[in-house]
Amino acid sequence: MIKQLVPGEFCLNECRCCCKFSQEKSIWSPALLNEEIEGLLKNNIPPSILSENKKIRLIAFPQKSCDLPSHVGTIFICPFLNPKDSKCKIYTLRPFECQIYPFLINRRKEKIFLAVDLGCAFIKKNLDSQEFKEYVRYLEEFFNNTTEIARLKNNPQLIQAYDEASDLLELKV
Ligand code: SF4
Ligand code: SF4
Repeated sequence: MIKQLVPGEFCLNECRCCCKFSQEKSIWSPALLNEEIEGLLKNNIPPSILSENKKIRLIAFPQKSCDLPSHVGTIFICPFLNPKDSKCKIYTLRPFECQIYPFLINRRKEKIFLAVDLGCAFIKKNLDSQEFKEYVRYLEEFFNNTTEIARLKNNPQLIQAYDEASDLLELKV
């Protein structure tokens, strides 16, 4: 499993924004690798949990039970989120895209970048830290090998155009 930058305690004590979305068809909802889809189906997860574009299908949830800032009304949550404690019910098996968040694979024009979501509360606090810089170096090494590049090529659903994300380095996909 990929090394994590954001401590779980920070997420649970200071944020709790992940896995909750303001729109049903959100670009931010998790896209799945082909092998993750096969794994979920083998584990008897109903196919209805998957959307046509290889993403997890979100479910509507009353806003009062969640804490998505500056959003009024129904929100949409990942079906694997336990809304009572904001924990992932499949944490150790969660999708690769969830493992790398708040980092993303971003398409900007013809190029592919490793990017970061500046909306993440932890990133906002730590963007200039040595820890952040070191973690970006770790990800640079992680992605710049033939296995990971092939994985991205085979799973184009993970490469999306996140206009608001901040690009960190170009990936030769
Ligand atoms: S947005 Fe960032 S700080 Fe908030 S829960 Fe997600 S990863 Fe944690
Ligand atoms: S699979 Fe888990 S970590 Fe990923 S969005 Fe759903 S609840 Fe969150």
